[in-house]
Amino acid sequence: MRIRDRAHTDRMPQSYYTATMNDPEPFSRLEGHETADVCVVGGGFTGVATALELAKRGISVILLEQNQIGWGASGRNGGQILGGYGPEMSEYNKYIDIFGEAKAQTVWDMGIECVEIIKDTVEEYQIECDLTWGYFDAAMKQSELDALKHAKIMMEARGYEAEQRFVGKDQAKSIVGSDRYIGGLVNMGWGHCNPLNLVRAEARAAENLGVHVCEDARVQSITYNDAGAILDTGHGKVDAKTVVLAGNAYLGHLVPKLAARMLPVGSYIIATEPLDSELADEIMPENYAVCDQRRVLDYFRMSPDKRLLYGGLATYSGVHPYDIKKAIRPNLLKTFPQLEDVKIDYAWGGYIGVGMNRLPQLGMINDKAYFAQAYAGHGVAASHMSARLIAEAIIGDRSRYDIIAGVKHSAFPGGRLFRQPILAAGMAYAHLLDCVKD
Ligand SMILES: Cc1cc2nc3c(=O)[nH]c(=O)nc-3n(C[C@H](O)[C@H](O)[C@H](O)COP(=O)(O)OP(=O)(O)OC[C@H]3O[C@@H](n4cnc5c(N)ncnc54)[C@H](O)[C@@H]3O)c2cc1C
Repeated sequence: MRIRDRAHTDRMPQSYYTATMNDPEPFSRLEGHETADVCVVGGGFTGVATALELAKRGISVILLEQNQIGWGASGRNGGQILGGYGPEMSEYNKYIDIFGEAKAQTVWDMGIECVEIIKDTVEEYQIECDLTWGYFDAAMKQSELDALKHAKIMMEARGYEAEQRFVGKDQAKSIVGSDRYIGGLVNMGWGHCNPLNLVRAEARAAENLGVHVCEDARVQSITYNDAGAILDTGHGKVDAKTVVLAGNAYLGHLVPKLAARMLPVGSYIIATEPLDSELADEIMPENYAVCDQRRVLDYFRMSPDKRLLYGGLATYSGVHPYDIKKAIRPNLLKTFPQLEDVKIDYAWGGYIGVGMNRLPQLGMINDKAYFAQAYAGHGVAASHMSARLIAEAIIGDRSRYDIIAGVKHSAFPGGRLFRQPILAAGMAYAHLLDCVKD
């Protein structure tokens, strides 16, 4: 199945990111029959970062992206860079429950490393992607505030070193100019960026290291044999010893086993017209990325040209809102009524991959093919960790990879026909819980 709907054509969406793309130059096309050690399917962060990690280790790679590099979630997201690979970093007991006492710290450390990978990559390749540090977890209820207070203590107890600041109601407005929040937690180790410019620059870095990065190369079939696999795009083929499946929520039913374990959930963003400096400073004085604590949450940040990028509104049914601007604007105005007269210049959406346990899924579907998917809306940094783990495994070091690959992921109930409606009903209930006041 190829995902096509109102929010998705084969071209990039008309988003703030496509309007500010540094490198719109197309990558190459796959023609004829080529050979590589590894063929990566998917040109988002998972696929591109895997290609880059492998190229740095001297492995020959062909990357096949069905549309353009960054066309999927990686070029559409909120750009919020937050740590954690799997459970919340403040909930160490969950790491122990899932990975066992001996391995829990290794996985917790990955939650820090995934952000460092982005920082190091941006520095190493001098990537212009508006990387900015500072993240605010905003609370609306006392219970959320208490949880954030606890989170800070737990993170510090485990050795988290980046600056964290807990703020109460009196200071919250100096971070977000809204009456909606009663405080929250600032984390200077997390931040935000322009994700489309990041992913395309990472792909260019991989290309410069010898990766054959191909756009308009949709893998239609994969045939496995003793030597590896043959991937067919219709206009070209690749012979590879190893395959990496990085199509995430856009892979459709190419690999039924993966499709059964991950559901595409819609998320949407609007971008305002550029605000005058005074208004921009009033609503986002610190220029942090902001996220609230609800199950169906709002997230927002300011662009360098002072547009507010405001995201939220999850859809679990597979049906996009008819008018994204109209659907999100009321949420924006609840947070910032002072933006009533501000024009919305862009609106777009994309799919997040969500699994049953909301943990990243990583592993092999057979002895030739790795996969990584389902970051549950927190994939900008986490995808870079998956990429590194797969690259390590491919060159023969499976010590960290095996910990993550060992986690079991159940298929969603309901089969191909009913799993989406069942999740939609579950999430409608979760949304109801969000509305219950303390
Ligand atoms: C609106 C929105 C907001 C988000 N906000 C945030 C945020 O602020 N912070 C955060 O951490 N995460 C966020 N996320 C999640 C994050 O964007 C994803 O977790 C991450 O980008 C996943 O990267 P990926 O490479 O695995 O998948 P994708 O970026 O979706 O890439 C998969 C690629 O595979 C390609 N593909 C699929 N099938 C084939 C095929 N058969 N042949 C060739 N190519 C194929 C697709 O075209 C696609 O480009 C958001 C997601 C959305 C949609």
